[in-house]
Amino acid sequence: MKKVAILRCLKTSASCAGAGCLRALYEHDKAFAQYGEEELRLMAMWTCNGCGASMLENQEGIRKKIERMKALELDALHISHCTHKKDDEGVKHMCPTIKAIIEELEQAGIKIVDGTH
Ligand code: SF4
Repeated sequence: MKKVAILRCLKTSASCAGAGCLRALYEHDKAFAQYGEEELRLMAMWTCNGCGASMLENQEGIRKKIERMKALELDALHISHCTHKKDDEGVKHMCPTIKAIIEELEQAGIKIVDGTH
């Protein structure tokens, strides 16, 4: 059994139910195909705490979530595609806030997989 979590964009979550990520997880499709037939346990599906006009009041709460990830003994944290935003030329880049979260979690030994579906 593999323990995985999914991190997504708060802004996107305003209009996304997360169904695509969950379908890929339960069907072992796309980024989850790497686990073969092994059972997957979704330990958390969380968002960043936002940016710009879409910010949660409790910005400090992100620390709590990051520490929780470290405690879950995950096999991998999957980063949803929604955390990649297009620039003026239409090229997608990973959000810098997510990059910073990833950096900290990688330093804590958590495997990061860029993508869900
Ligand atoms: S910080 Fe990045 S991932 Fe979070 S809401 Fe803003 S754009 Fe989305």
